[in-house]
Amino acid sequence: MTSCFLRLGLASLGMALAGLAAAADGGPPWTRAYVDPCAEFVARLPNVKAPLCAAARLQPTFGRSVQGRTIHARDVVAPEPRLRVLVVGGMHGDELSSSSVVLHWIQFAQEIPASAHWRFIPALNPDGLMRRPARRMNANGVDLNRNFPTPDWERQARIYWEKRTRKDPRRWPGPRPLSEPETQFFHDEMERFQPDLIVSIHAPYGVLDFDGPTVPPKRLGRLYLDQVGIFPGSLGNYGGVHKGMPVVTIELSSAIRTPLDAEMRQMWLDLLRWMDERVMPPAGVQPAAPFRAPHRAG
Ligand SMILES: [Zn+2]
Repeated sequence: MTSCFLRLGLASLGMALAGLAAAADGGPPWTRAYVDPCAEFVARLPNVKAPLCAAARLQPTFGRSVQGRTIHARDVVAPEPRLRVLVVGGMHGDELSSSSVVLHWIQFAQEIPASAHWRFIPALNPDGLMRRPARRMNANGVDLNRNFPTPDWERQARIYWEKRTRKDPRRWPGPRPLSEPETQFFHDEMERFQPDLIVSIHAPYGVLDFDGPTVPPKRLGRLYLDQVGIFPGSLGNYGGVHKGMPVVTIELSSAIRTPLDAEMRQMWLDLLRWMDERVMPPAGVQPAAPFRAPHRAG
């Protein structure tokens, strides 16, 4: 217990230091007033009306973006959860549809919780999402999906960025692994929640990708499996290959429009069926502690 609190304390200190570093770029992040996420999401995201967002009952987490925006989450827990599933959207801020799909799935999870403890994070990169125009990278210009601590990151991520992407600024992996508060937060969630499955939603390539143990889903709705390979620093590489957690990466076919509601539901149902058949919790693992929203002032 003590070490848990100590870890939280260190994480908070880390975020405060990250905030200090960011303070030079605009106002100090901790002075940012708390904003109801639905006020921003409904104005920004495709196919998200106020009642859908309100029903998602998003909770503030300890996570903060570079610019001090709160990262929100929602837990939906079945009566007897067999699996823990972490669902993340909006890791790339300009893939708006991915955040919308997470909000729709929160609704489906409440209707059909499917013996899982779900943790949904609809927008991991709120600074990129709220920027006009929306931007893939976070406020430090880092591609969060290249910032996870895969082995030999220092060499591999830099070589990949320089040689393969020719220093594409949209794919900059950052100065070091987990250099960003958003990836630190997600990494901490992986450690704390210990998911049996991670579902990471992106756009616009219109395929499914999969990393990790077990047999991948062949399709979710109209999206078919097409394993495109691995990148240094990506979540699929870190979670699936190096941590042994199955990672389903969904690439929606449009970044600015969601699939039709019936299609989003079919993807959800296909995911549940595949989970039932192919995703097993490790033996002897205790159920995760329920998500605790931090007390916040203001
Ligand atoms: Zn993406």
